[in-house]
Amino acid sequence: MSKPQKPRKCIFCGSSRLSREHFWPVWARKLLNVTGDARTVATYDHALGTAVLVREDKRPGHLKSIRIKCVCAKCNNEWMGSIEESAKDCLTKLATGASYTLSEIDKSTVATWVALKVIIGEHNDAAKAVSRQTDRSLFRENRIPPNGFRILIAACGDARLETVFAKTASKVMTRRPTINELDTGLPYNIQCTSFGFGRLFVHAIYTTTDADLQPIFNEAGIVYTLWPLSEEPITWPPKRSITYDEAASIARTLLDIDKLPDVTRVFKV
Ligand SMILES: [Zn+2]
Repeated sequence: MSKPQKPRKCIFCGSSRLSREHFWPVWARKLLNVTGDARTVATYDHALGTAVLVREDKRPGHLKSIRIKCVCAKCNNEWMGSIEESAKDCLTKLATGASYTLSEIDKSTVATWVALKVIIGEHNDAAKAVSRQTDRSLFRENRIPPNGFRILIAACGDARLETVFAKTASKVMTRRPTINELDTGLPYNIQCTSFGFGRLFVHAIYTTTDADLQPIFNEAGIVYTLWPLSEEPITWPPKRSITYDEAASIARTLLDIDKLPDVTRVFKV
C-alpha cells in the first residue's frame, strides 16, 4: 500500500504555515466517552470496511485526541472555529440523545460541520481527496456543504461506534470511460465517510459524479437525511437506535457499489 500523501499547504487558503490541529475540538472531546485504547478503535474500523484515520497504531493516544496537519492556524481559529461554535449546542444534544427537533438552521449548521470534518478527514491522504481546491475555497467563503454532499444521521447506542471514523474513496463512472480518460488517470470522485460522535452516527456521501449512492439500510424515521435540506422533520432521538451491524452496512455503502445499477467501478476501492 502506498504511503498516504500529506498536504504541504492549508487545504482551504493555500497558506504554507500549516499547524497541527486537533480533529475534535476540546468541547467535543469532553462529550466522547471512550472505552478501550486506540488499537481497539482500529479493530472496529476494520469491521466497518476500512480504516483511514486510525490504523493499527501502537503509539499512545486516542482517536478523540488525534491531530491533523492540513490547515493553518488562522483558518482553524477563525472561520473553522465559528463553524464549531455554531454547531456546538445542537451537536451536544445529538451526541447525548436529548429530546429535540432540529430547526432548518440546526440542519444546515450541523451539515456544514459534518462537511468540514469530511473534507479534513479526506486530507489524511490527499491523493484520494474528492474535493477540489475550488470547492474548498467556496466552502471557506459560503460555509455550506459543497455540491455533491449527501449526509445521513442516525442514533446509535453501541459504545463501540462512539468514536469510530471510517472512510472509503473510489473512482466511479456512470458511463464507460474513454481511452484518453483511462490514460490520463481519473481523479478520485466519490467517497463515503462514516463516523460516530457520542450517540450520533453520521454517514456522508460526497461525489463529483452524478452517481446516486444510497445505503442499503436507510429506514425512514430511523436514518434521517440531514443534507440536502428536506421538509422531513428531524426529531431526536429517532424511534430507535441503529445496531452495530446496521451502522456497518451503512458504512459499507461504497464497498457495495457493485450492487447498484448504472454504476461502473473503474478502480477498486
Ligand atoms: Zn488556511
